[in-house]
Amino acid sequence: MKRLVKAAFFIFLYYSGIERLLARLIRPNAIAVLMYHGVCDRAVLPPEINFHLPPCEFEQQMRALKSRYEVVPLDDVCKSLAEGKPLQKSVVITFDDGYRNNFSYAAPVLKRLGLPYTVYVATSFVDSDHWIPLNEVYWLWSEGKLDSVSMREARTQIRTSASETLVPLVARAERPSVVSKAAEDSFAMLKWKELETMARDGANFGSHTHTHCNMAVQSDQTQKRELLISKQLLESHLGTPITSFAYPYGRREQMSSSARKNIVQSGYLCALSAEQGLVTAESDRFSLPRIGYERPIWRFTGELLYQFIKQAWKEWTT
Ligand SMILES: [Zn+2]
Repeated sequence: MKRLVKAAFFIFLYYSGIERLLARLIRPNAIAVLMYHGVCDRAVLPPEINFHLPPCEFEQQMRALKSRYEVVPLDDVCKSLAEGKPLQKSVVITFDDGYRNNFSYAAPVLKRLGLPYTVYVATSFVDSDHWIPLNEVYWLWSEGKLDSVSMREARTQIRTSASETLVPLVARAERPSVVSKAAEDSFAMLKWKELETMARDGANFGSHTHTHCNMAVQSDQTQKRELLISKQLLESHLGTPITSFAYPYGRREQMSSSARKNIVQSGYLCALSAEQGLVTAESDRFSLPRIGYERPIWRFTGELLYQFIKQAWKEWTT
């Protein structure tokens, strides 16, 4: 019931134009860092675990952002936080993992609208035919080659194992020689030449580790290796300093004090989590919260406005 009332309220706010007006007027000192993964036409996975957005909805969201908020590069936010400068209400667009669909579907829209964005790349998958292990598992399951129990077991193993001990179930399963266009669109990873083209068109990049591992369960040595290899590879291919990192999985339990120390020592200026919230001057620069996208459009704009109003109220009452 509460959800229905909230939905009706968001629909009213969106179609009456009140939401757009409020989004422009309200001015909390906070930044919404939006977290996307991919943009593609046909979903391979069922809606409850699909993490890609159809191109038309993505473009609708980007147009909504452009007409309501200032969209800024993450590097500017990192710099302001590092220098202790006050933050001004704005939005940052980020993508995790480094899917090729970022290049095919998202980049042209962002370029056309002139919106800055940052892609967090798990560098061992660039130029490779391999997909992120979790996606191999999801795909085999969606093709009926893994049952649901094995899928869940493999998912837990991938999320909780140190890289050295990881024997993914996917290595034991036969990958069919023919991969559907939809699966390619969903899971194929970027090539270096695509990353370079995106960078020339103004995209920014950050590290998402080398192998897309859970940093909290890796040894100190592996953490350092993951942070340095990915940074060096991106810097040598793109010719610009890489100063931000996004934790794979990104929940509290996938971050640790030793990972934080290694991120700082590896020369990163900030790190992003997948915890929900706005970035404020009080945020820890090495575990910045983000906002997951919502759909449809009225829920997306409504939730974003709600976050900013909540923050403005907090600032006003304290
Ligand atoms: Zn990821």
